[in-house]
Amino acid sequence: MNIVIFGPPGAGKGTQSSFLINNYNLFQLSTGDLLREELKSGSSLAKEIEGLMNAGKLVSDEIINNLIEKKISDKKIQNQIIFDGFPRNLDQAKTLDSLLLKYNQKISVVLNLKVDYSILVKRISGRVSCSVCKKTFNEFFDPPTECEKSECKNRSLTRRSDDNEETVTKRLNTYDEQTLPILGHYNEMNLVKDVDAMQDISNVSEQISNIIRGL
Ligand code: AMP
Repeated sequence: MNIVIFGPPGAGKGTQSSFLINNYNLFQLSTGDLLREELKSGSSLAKEIEGLMNAGKLVSDEIINNLIEKKISDKKIQNQIIFDGFPRNLDQAKTLDSLLLKYNQKISVVLNLKVDYSILVKRISGRVSCSVCKKTFNEFFDPPTECEKSECKNRSLTRRSDDNEETVTKRLNTYDEQTLPILGHYNEMNLVKDVDAMQDISNVSEQISNIIRGL
């Protein structure tokens, strides 16, 4: 089972991906996480990527498609992938279709996490995560508590550099203009299942479980 987890920034894609990983033996492929890893290298490419991310713009398809093919071709995670933050535009969706065909796989479902934009800014600008285990909290809705792992005792809480109000608005515009049109593509393939992502985390996970059960 390969899943595309779809929705605007702050819809809870990362949180629900963790639920899927823990309960369905899947692997998360987050292009945002892969890019943030790349930033640590400090290369000139990293500088270019950082500039685009902080401006709320998309990184070039060429960079993304390279990262993606490495993962899709990996036999260890074949047919067990959650695509999080990818595809982000129609060209990427078409590339994903052909890569999956090339590696003999398919998408089982597109989970469309629906949230009113009015609450997204607060969800994103309140987001912090543990520097050690990466567990995320929200200063408004899910205040930080101790992490479960003992290694996290000396943690600090970190915030993504693009999780500020100004960049969030730009990211939402980019989502509307470039990412939302993908839904039409997946609707034609009959793959989209809507999820009410305004509910609390466990309720959203339950909706997702019900969808998976019905596949
Ligand atoms: P995310 O962690 O998914 O919210 O992504 C953070 C930022 O990384 C986005 O605002 C984009 O600048 C960049 N990014 C992540 N995934 C993609 C993608 N599939 N295509 C282009 N840019 C991406």
